[in-house]
Amino acid sequence: MSQFDYDLFVIGAGSGGVRAARIAGAHGAKVAIAEEYRVGGTCVIRGCVPKKLFVYASHLAEELEDAAGFGWTVDGARFDWPTLRDNVQKEVSRLQGLYGNTLGNAGVTVYNARATFVDKHTLDVGGQQVTARKILIATGAVPVVPDFPGAELGFTSNEAFNLPELPKRILVYGGGYIATEFAGIFHGLGVEVTQAFRAPTILRGWDEELRTKLQDLYTQKGIHMRGGASIVRLDKDGDVIRATMTDGEVLETDAVMYAIGRRPNVDGLGLDHTSVKTAKNGAIVVSADSQTSCSHIYAVGDVTDRIQLTPVAIKEGHAFSDTVFGSKHWTADHRLVPSAVFSQPPLASVGLDEDTARSEGHEIRVFRSEFRPMKFTLAGRQERTLCKLVVDTATDKVLGAHMLGPDAPEIIQAVAIAVKLGATKAQFDQTVAVHPTAAEEFVLMR
Ligand code: FAD
Repeated sequence: MSQFDYDLFVIGAGSGGVRAARIAGAHGAKVAIAEEYRVGGTCVIRGCVPKKLFVYASHLAEELEDAAGFGWTVDGARFDWPTLRDNVQKEVSRLQGLYGNTLGNAGVTVYNARATFVDKHTLDVGGQQVTARKILIATGAVPVVPDFPGAELGFTSNEAFNLPELPKRILVYGGGYIATEFAGIFHGLGVEVTQAFRAPTILRGWDEELRTKLQDLYTQKGIHMRGGASIVRLDKDGDVIRATMTDGEVLETDAVMYAIGRRPNVDGLGLDHTSVKTAKNGAIVVSADSQTSCSHIYAVGDVTDRIQLTPVAIKEGHAFSDTVFGSKHWTADHRLVPSAVFSQPPLASVGLDEDTARSEGHEIRVFRSEFRPMKFTLAGRQERTLCKLVVDTATDKVLGAHMLGPDAPEIIQAVAIAVKLGATKAQFDQTVAVHPTAAEEFVLMR
C-alpha cells in the first residue's frame, strides 16, 4: 500500500492537465485532478473554442456581402447576439462533458474544487487534505488587468463570451493576438470598434510586413486603429465610458475590453510551502522535462510561460506522463511551432520571419506572392492575400512561411510539416500545385 493517496495529483483541468492525467491513468497510475472552475480549461471554456465560433459568426457578415456578386440576394439579414452567445455556451458545455468523460474513462478521480499546497506532498482540495507522490501544476494563466483609475469599468476575455448584450461601441485595449482577434470579431458583429495599443503596430513578434498590412486592412474595414496609445484613466458618465489617453485625447465608448497580456496563474497556490522556484513574472521555472526545482513537482502549460498555446501545453503534459509514468522518455519540442491569429483576414506563421532570420545570422532570400483571391473578384472585394517564404541562402532550407489571407491557418498547418522536416526551397518547387487554390502559391514562388 502506497504511503500516498495518489501516484499523481494534477492541479488544473485545462489543456495540459487533462492530457497529462489521461495519459498517466492509461499508464496505470492512480490519478486525481482538481478543477476550480470548469473542466476543459481556458481553451475549451473561454479561449480557442468559443473564440473561433465567434470568428465564424462575425466573418459571416463579409460572406453575406460577398454573396451579392455571385447572384444571391440575402434580404433582411440580421444578427442576434443572445442566439450566438447561448449556442456557443451550449457547445462549450457539450465539450466540457466530453472532457469529463475522457477523464472518467481513464480512471481519473475529479475534484471540482480549488487545490493549494499544504506541504510539498499534501494539497488542500476544497477543505480536504490529499497526498500524492508526484504533483503536476497545470493552472494556466490569467488575463492582466491594468491598474489605472477606473480600471474596474473594463472587462477581459474571461467575460467577453458572456456579455448580456452587445455594446454599440467598444474600445479593445491591447495589440496582441487576443485583442486583434476580438477587434475583428466585434467589428464583424456590427460594433463600432477602436483598437488602442502602446506600440506603433499590432502583433509584435510577427512578420513586420504582414502585421502592418493587417493593421492597414483593419483601418480600411472601418476599425479605428490607435497605435502608440495607452489609457490613463476611465470614467463613467451614465451609460458612456470616457477613456483618457496618454496624448490627452478622450475617447467615448460603451465598453472597454482589456487584452494586454496573460500572466502565470500562481497566486494563492501555496508555492511557499514547497521549494518550487518562480521567475519574476510568476512563471514556474522548469527543465526541458517540465520538472520544477522540487524534484517530484512538475509544471506544464501557460503557468510555465514557455509558449502559451494549447497544442504546446498538450505536448508538454503528454511528454511528462509518458516520461514519468510510462518509461517513454521524450520532451516537447518548442522549435518551429506554427501559430495563427484568427483576425479577419487571418494571419499564420511557422518558423523565422525576415528580421529574426537576419538577426540570427542567416543570409536569406525572401520570396513573396501578393494576389487577389479568386473568390474576391466576383465579390468585388479589394483585399489581397500575402504569402512569404524566408529561405536560407547557404542551405536553401525554408526557415519560415507566413501568410495573411483567407484560410491562412489551415494552409500554414500543412506547410509547417514541410518546414519541420527541413524542406528546401527546391523541394517546395518540385511539389505540384493544387489548382486553383491560394495554397499553391507556396510551391509557385519564383
Ligand atoms: P488552462 O487551459 O488555462 O487550464 C488551467 C486550469 O486550471 C483552469 O481550468 C483553471 O480554472 C484551473 N485552475 C487554476 N488554478 C487552480 C487551482 N488552484 N485548483 C484547481 N484548479 C485550478 N491557444 C491556441 O493554441 N489557439 C488559440 O486560438 C487560442 N486562443 C485563445 C483565446 C483566448 C481568448 C485565450 C484567453 C487563450 C487562447 N489560447 C489559444 C491559449 C490557450 O487557451 C492556452 O494556451 C491553454 O489553455 C493553456 O493550457 P493550460 O493547461 O496551461 O491552462
